[in-house]
Amino acid sequence: MLVQERENATKTDKKLHVSFEFFPPKTEKMEQALWESINRLAPLNPDFVSVTYGAGGSTRERTHATVKRILRETALRPAAHLTCVAASREEVDGVIRSYRDIGVKHIVALRGDPTDGVGAPYAPHPQGYINAADLVGGIRKIGDFEISVSAYPEKHPESPDIETDFDMLKAKIDAGATRAITQFFFDNRVYFDYVEAARKRGITIPIVPGILPVINFSSAARFAAQCGASIPPKLAKNFEGLDDYSEARHLVAAAIMAEQVADLHDNGIRNYHFYTMNRANFVYTICHMLGMRPTA
Ligand code: FAD
Repeated sequence: MLVQERENATKTDKKLHVSFEFFPPKTEKMEQALWESINRLAPLNPDFVSVTYGAGGSTRERTHATVKRILRETALRPAAHLTCVAASREEVDGVIRSYRDIGVKHIVALRGDPTDGVGAPYAPHPQGYINAADLVGGIRKIGDFEISVSAYPEKHPESPDIETDFDMLKAKIDAGATRAITQFFFDNRVYFDYVEAARKRGITIPIVPGILPVINFSSAARFAAQCGASIPPKLAKNFEGLDDYSEARHLVAAAIMAEQVADLHDNGIRNYHFYTMNRANFVYTICHMLGMRPTA
């Protein structure tokens, strides 16, 4: 199991690699919360911090502004998420060029969800990139970016089977992607099996686990149902009866996340992508427990 990852951990690379994902803020208050989180997490020296792109490109300007401010005010390496939904190639290429021109070196390339919402059929823009693999190819033509893409240990909801998902992942790698970041999952077995199956199919790029703190169980469960991530019964049980007790909920969330990451670490995983939800505390605590300490 996970032979390659374990070898990496034991022989060559014992160092921990983390990345933190943020979403662009809508209000001034949210902007302040985001920057408090960025400033709290920055001293942990992540490999990169990524900024999401709202559904249908709805946060195009805000994503760009956040990435630009990270470049301007910090020593962090930002990765800009980019989707190709509801936009022509020309528009998307314009966004890619603008990132290249301000010095962004890393793009997280995604197709995006259908404009009518998750579950609706996906139709590419008539003049647009047709999917994430096509977008990766377009990005490659414009600049020498590092390109990360998505991976779905429990299969993408639109995918007829896991084989189709692996074919899509391979197509994204053939087009130039160098790292996959997974959809969140709560049962590590799902991730281990997925990585093993990917390695058997000749996929060699890092498949970095995406870790989500369950800050709010009902919204996490709703989101999980939409994107095909399963909720283990034990997880649901742990939050039962805590609806009116947010402190206890947060302690439970931290304990669950700590347990999940400790198990990944015990199994040789040294690379983690944290969905921060723009809150530093959970992720900072887990990184601390992994042995990471702030650097100057
Ligand atoms: P693709 O990799 O193109 O396809 C996903 C899957 O759909 C494939 O694996 C395949 O199973 C199926 N599929 C696609 N095309 C076909 C086809 N022609 N035939 C058969 N099956 C097909 N969304 C945002 O809007 N903004 C973000 O910032 C964002 N960040 C994300 C970050 C990560 C790490 C992850 C995992 C997801 C993120 N998403 C984001 C969600 C993502 O946009 C959705 O999951 C979307 O539905 C698929 O995008 P993709 O890039 O994974 O698509």
